[in-house]
Amino acid sequence: MVISLLPIPARIHAVRQELTELRAYPAERLAAIVKDVGFRCSFCAKCCTSAFNGHVFLLDRDTAAVKEIDPRALEPAPYAEFCDQNGMFYVSGYALLVQDDKAGSCYFLKNGRCRIYDRRFSICRIYPYMLHREPDEKGKVDWRQVSGLDEHGEYNTDIPEEDCLAIASETKEYEEAYLMQEIGFLIFIQDYFARHRLRHVQKVYDDQVRRFNQGEEITVMVYYNGLLEQHRIRNR
Ligand code: SF4
Repeated sequence: MVISLLPIPARIHAVRQELTELRAYPAERLAAIVKDVGFRCSFCAKCCTSAFNGHVFLLDRDTAAVKEIDPRALEPAPYAEFCDQNGMFYVSGYALLVQDDKAGSCYFLKNGRCRIYDRRFSICRIYPYMLHREPDEKGKVDWRQVSGLDEHGEYNTDIPEEDCLAIASETKEYEEAYLMQEIGFLIFIQDYFARHRLRHVQKVYDDQVRRFNQGEEITVMVYYNGLLEQHRIRNR
């Protein structure tokens, strides 16, 4: 079942179910995988580029930090969840802007190093670990715990047990916060659309994406801290 194709109440139900499953997943089981994989960062900086990793989605607490550090680093996250009948997009949060280079380096990456490493964001701290369910190439939905296995970094290093558990707990906490943000967004949109007589129209969505890809400006409403922030954006 593709959650993004469901009506909003069914989506809320599906994400809540995902949250329940996530909470039931033992941190010790993830810690054992962390131990087994033994990943260590080799400072290749691949994971800080859109060529390798798509976009860096920000939890609200991370967006608040970016607004303090340098608000120019924010952009509406791609793949907006909704588009109303008037052509306005709605997305559940911000992402980090990427530089205009070949790899699509993160705004904060300079000479292969993160300029704000000590203040890096939630997803940057846990990567390459994750804990969510995805279909594999045969469509079988199962838990995925490590991203980009064997494509970056070093493996089979010895990570102390307590560090494995700390990584597992932080990863679970991130995934939980991510799902909570998504649920908050969906509940908000459900109410907002009802109050303003709006509805998602897939054809308008597709037409607007086409216009955006052809260089036209579009409006995106970004959900942040329980409100919507409006942006006019153009494909770069
Ligand atoms: S904020 Fe730092 S660690 Fe996170 S993606 Fe950007 S350069 Fe990498």
